[in-house]
Amino acid sequence: MSTIPTATISRLVTYLRILTDLDFSGVKKTSSDHLAEEAQVSAFQVRKDLAYFGRFGTRGTGYLVPMLRREVRRILGLTRPWNVVIVGMGRLGQAIADYPNFYQYDFSLCGFFDIDPEKAGDQVRDEEIMHPRDMPRIVKERDIDIGFLTVPQGAAQQAADQIVAAGIGGILNFAPSVINVPEEVHVESVDFMAGLMRLSFYRQNR
Ligand code: NAD
Repeated sequence: MSTIPTATISRLVTYLRILTDLDFSGVKKTSSDHLAEEAQVSAFQVRKDLAYFGRFGTRGTGYLVPMLRREVRRILGLTRPWNVVIVGMGRLGQAIADYPNFYQYDFSLCGFFDIDPEKAGDQVRDEEIMHPRDMPRIVKERDIDIGFLTVPQGAAQQAADQIVAAGIGGILNFAPSVINVPEEVHVESVDFMAGLMRLSFYRQNR
């Protein structure tokens, strides 16, 4: 599994969105040419990405949309529920908690943590915000898999250590800092300022 390029995984997410739209529109068949056009990559790239995981189409007839959609969901681990906590219930943590569409892929928000005593007990989605010291118990009781890290940059490593110590194996890090975690823990970073800085570069050099 470690030989599969990260870019392939990112493109699989794009293919899944396209396949979901096709499926919802009642389209039964598609081709690598069509997926490629929609994803703005080459048809060769689509076939190569899918080939890491098996053979899903037939030469000449293409892919059956519901079947390929199901397979890509399975490859991405989206055929089971994932339980998520948010650590850091400030502006961003609250905004994420308000996002209504996690359920579409069976992600459940199952706990909210903040060190600020003023926030302890506040209600979010019918749950009380808890102190991070309760995280190990909650992770066990609610079978938590993923932690969203939405604390200030200076608190990110400490909060990540707490998430790892509580037994969570995946972190979606929104803080603009590199966090160190054990090898078995996977971190994905969402850095909107980094995107802005890349945009600035391309605008300047257009
Ligand atoms: P915020 O100050 O509004 O909220 C941070 C919250 O984290 C506070 O409630 C604080 O009490 C809590 N906290 C601090 N240390 C903690 C710990 N160890 N454990 C648990 N909770 C802890 O900050 P924000 O604007 O929500 O931003 C959060 C992070 O997201 C920052 O790293 C920021 O750079 C990043 N970010 C924010 C935005 C945005 O639009 N607000 C956008 C992109 C990225």
